[in-house]
Amino acid sequence: MVNKNIIFLGMPGSGKGTVSANLEKKTNIVQISTGDIFREEIKNKTKLGIEIQKIVESGSYVPDNITNEIVKNKIFALEKENKKFILDGFPRTIHQAQFLDGLNFNNYVVIYLSIDADVVIKRLSERFFCPKCKRTYNLSSFRSKKHPYCEIDETQLIQRADDQPEAVKKRLDVYENQTKPLIDFYKDKNKLFTIDSNRNIDLIIKDILDIIID
Ligand code: AMP
Repeated sequence: MVNKNIIFLGMPGSGKGTVSANLEKKTNIVQISTGDIFREEIKNKTKLGIEIQKIVESGSYVPDNITNEIVKNKIFALEKENKKFILDGFPRTIHQAQFLDGLNFNNYVVIYLSIDADVVIKRLSERFFCPKCKRTYNLSSFRSKKHPYCEIDETQLIQRADDQPEAVKKRLDVYENQTKPLIDFYKDKNKLFTIDSNRNIDLIIKDILDIIID
């Protein structure tokens, strides 16, 4: 039984999404992925989706005021239902982390998925996903048995616009400047656990379960 919320920190491609989806299946915890929320808005061409499409596809961050408001509403809704959740991709700036503190968000641990930059660049360039069921594949480590189609529903797999080389470079720069400082922010609060994310997913999940299960 998981009794605390989790914040995932890590470079783009460090495995936050895959690990979160895996934990969601194995435990009572619910994933909140800001990246998924934004991609859904873009796909549905909502007012917000149209406003943020260029920002997301170029690899920059959506403005804090927009992101904070969306996450706040999700958190309040899940807390009302007494659910524990994973923040996958939030906070990503010091301002977002301070906003979270301001919501009296205390019962949490931060899992930092540490990974080498060259592994990330390779992983992102080989990443494909199914636009229908959202399953993520990787050409070398988790290739669809029906590539270029999804194993589950046979939908044609696609690559994310922001996994193209120019956008990846931008995302790594933005991570370095805006998100990396959060490692020290949470270290200073004694909330940070570091996990070696260069390894096989089963080992990563095992280490995280040891931290979060009471
Ligand atoms: P992800 O799927 O987590 O890699 O997120 C994809 C993109 O969504 C990011 O590159 C940003 O453009 C946007 N995004 C996701 N989370 C945030 C956040 N916390 N703050 C600002 N932008 C975000």
